[in-house]
Amino acid sequence: MEVKCSICGKKQEITKIHKDYQKLARNPKENFICWECENRLKYQASKKHEPQRPI
Ligand SMILES: [Zn+2]
Repeated sequence: MEVKCSICGKKQEITKIHKDYQKLARNPKENFICWECENRLKYQASKKHEPQRPI
């Protein structure tokens, strides 16, 4: 199944073993986020939660 990342717009082929496959198969309008964007979001989120401190 071909899906498009809703952040970077990159197309990706996912298989049944992908964690979002069932969700996207049921509802193709569901947002898909590729692992690169997911990692970036996670990184940004973890940075945001860190207290701001001078180095
Ligand atoms: Zn992406």
